[in-house]
Amino acid sequence: MENLIRREKLGEGSYGVVYRAVNPDTRCLVAIKKIRFHHDNEGIPSAVIREIALLKELKHPNIVELQDVVMMEKEVQLIFEYLSMDLYRHFEIVHSKGEKMHANSIQSFLYQVTDAIYFCHRRRILHRDLKPQNLLIDSTYTRIKVGDFGLSRAFDLPVRSYSPEVITLWYRAPELLLGSQQYCCPVDIWSIGCIFFEMLTMKTLFPGESEIDQLICIFKILGTPNEENWKGITQLPNYSSSFPIYPINKLTMFVRKDLDKNLNASAVDLLNRMLCYQPSERIIAKDIMKHSFFQGMPVLKQ
Ligand code: AMP
Repeated sequence: MENLIRREKLGEGSYGVVYRAVNPDTRCLVAIKKIRFHHDNEGIPSAVIREIALLKELKHPNIVELQDVVMMEKEVQLIFEYLSMDLYRHFEIVHSKGEKMHANSIQSFLYQVTDAIYFCHRRRILHRDLKPQNLLIDSTYTRIKVGDFGLSRAFDLPVRSYSPEVITLWYRAPELLLGSQQYCCPVDIWSIGCIFFEMLTMKTLFPGESEIDQLICIFKILGTPNEENWKGITQLPNYSSSFPIYPINKLTMFVRKDLDKNLNASAVDLLNRMLCYQPSERIIAKDIMKHSFFQGMPVLKQ
């Protein structure tokens, strides 16, 4: 693995630059994530050790495989299987052609991502940074895999306090935006819900520009939450009684406008369950996979 021939830069993540490379022995493509250390005495950052430890545990057909780890004097290189595209780029391509994603692909991609996250949640691992850039698609457009566990971490039950500054704004759950320190698996489900909407409509659901703007974007579509639909909301650190009041949940109306004819009411029902305000009432990964939205879906070979 040390003789890899490096090709072009693929992207940049939370911790390092990602390059495409070829293994000269096998001729296989790999993705190398290079993580440099700036301070001599610090050793390997704990976030990196965490990512490596987690990824080594997470062997699943829908999780990007960590193939090897190369330790160097001032950097660590994580060698991953190579995938040809991320979902963000896929959206760009489909959008530039004025098209939409096929109903079958939406069904299949959503199922696969949920399967991967169910696998993580069962092992008490939160991803915490699910977004289209972290979902990688293979060259046949059939397999989607969750990558970039740089921000995820094993969590113990009962849930401890974590920093709320962890998920890219547009996909960030409202409990994090409101400063809750007791979040858990529902934060990943919220992100998947936002991605699901984007697959259905090719539009970003909540494109906020700041934390407060993000909340307002959510309120405008789902209605301003209150103690009736989110017990305990008024106790959250960033809650304000002077939030603007949007009384109506317009999500169903909003999504139907753009929905493909082939996608029936069950897509709307599932979306509403994923974007439920009260985290404890939000649908869990296991139940997403049993939802009628997936009825009739062809079985994907592992
Ligand atoms: P990450 O640090 O994992 O968020 O990666 C940053 C970007 O590099 C991603 O958005 C992808 O476009 C690209 N990338 C990461 N991992 C891979 C991979 N295994 N194969 C192909 N591209 C990747």
